[in-house]
Amino acid sequence: MGKISICPGSFDPITLGHLDIIQRAARVFDEVNVVVLNNSSKKSLFTVDERLGLIREVTKHIPNVKVDYFQGLTVDYAKSVHASAIIRGLRAVSDFEYEMQITSMNRVLDEQIETFFIMTNNQYSFLSSSIVKEVAKYGGNITELVPAVVAQSLREKFANQ
Ligand code: ADP
Repeated sequence: MGKISICPGSFDPITLGHLDIIQRAARVFDEVNVVVLNNSSKKSLFTVDERLGLIREVTKHIPNVKVDYFQGLTVDYAKSVHASAIIRGLRAVSDFEYEMQITSMNRVLDEQIETFFIMTNNQYSFLSSSIVKEVAKYGGNITELVPAVVAQSLREKFANQ
């Protein structure tokens, strides 16, 4: 069995920053499972099915990427797909404290699963799903921030609201 990793997140919606991390992880690991985990403290704009559909669409050119949904603990999902690694992206120092907390907790829950951080590409260091939603909501240009199909979905979402 090859080296299996998971890329957990809310992906509400997937951005070019996420995609960059997924693409880079896919060069290092034999299999990358991108998994939508419902973050109970965040209210989402897109349904889980919509988020999965967008991730599938924009990662379909990467053969070793799988897309999935899981309700529960990240480490439990990792175990269920026999992954030995959790991949997270790091944008700025502000991400660090939160990520350190989750990583430490995950290590307490299962010390066999290692968390790896991939530093964001400089051009995406300011980019988050929340910022994209804010810009899209007020009709700003998001073409440099998300794949075209995501930009289209965002426009439709806000047109219907
Ligand atoms: P979560 O709710 O778990 O933080 P997100 O969808 O916000 O889910 O993020 C998923 C992962 O992608 C996290 O590791 C986050 O740091 C990373 N990420 C988000 N945006 C970027 C970006 N622009 N560049 C690099 N990594 C990013």
